[in-house]
Amino acid sequence: MRKPFIIANWKMNKNVHESVDFVRAIKEKLPANKEIGIAAQAVSLYNMKKVAGTSNLQIIAQNAAAELEGPYTGEISMRSLADAGVTYVMLGHLERRRLFNESNTSINQKVLAALQAGITPIICTDEEMVQTEVNGKIHYVFQQLKSVLRDVPADKLAQIVISYEPSWAVGSSHQANPEIAEEGCQAIRQSLADTYNNDIAEKMRILYGGSVNPQNIYQIMSKPNVDGALIGRASLDIDSFLQMINYIE
Ligand code: PEP
Repeated sequence: MRKPFIIANWKMNKNVHESVDFVRAIKEKLPANKEIGIAAQAVSLYNMKKVAGTSNLQIIAQNAAAELEGPYTGEISMRSLADAGVTYVMLGHLERRRLFNESNTSINQKVLAALQAGITPIICTDEEMVQTEVNGKIHYVFQQLKSVLRDVPADKLAQIVISYEPSWAVGSSHQANPEIAEEGCQAIRQSLADTYNNDIAEKMRILYGGSVNPQNIYQIMSKPNVDGALIGRASLDIDSFLQMINYIE
């Protein structure tokens, strides 16, 4: 049974004090039957963890270096993140790919570094509508996954979380479409079963991201292959986030 996972992706919003105040406001209101996480700016993570304490809130980094330590001025290492209480790291978000030229190769190196440091990767995959139309299925996403999961030991695969984010639905005025969310997540699960095996594919959690909000989260989460949601804009407001993590099942 895959536990639903709802993640706020705050991107470069909220300073340290705002982040900590948010955690303080929600930490007693987290549902026990779901995993809830917040991906915040690196500078906030340690304090957020201190306030979250032993609550069920996962503290998530939005990126980190592929090297665990060394002469990489300005980078943040997975080892330091683990020490700060970070349990997951988001890798390969489409803004990282587009704005910072991250490639499948560099994301793969970060995935391996995260696992070495004891942090679980949340791997974001994206696609353009035109790519879907040309290939019929989500061929482009499969290519990304194959590359970023290269050399991951078989016994580490089941813990990895995948997020399917059609690029035209992220940060846009498009309505999130539950059918498209299910189709994408189902196709990814099938490709994991084909590449690895059914057992791994059934254990791995696949989330949907792109214009999720309090109005559409229930429909999206009712889809059998959608195990969670990665939420940008609608996660910034406390009431909206609380509504989404407590969507009625
Ligand atoms: C995102 O940036 O990962 C995202 C899903 O954003 P939004 O929910 O605002 O579309």
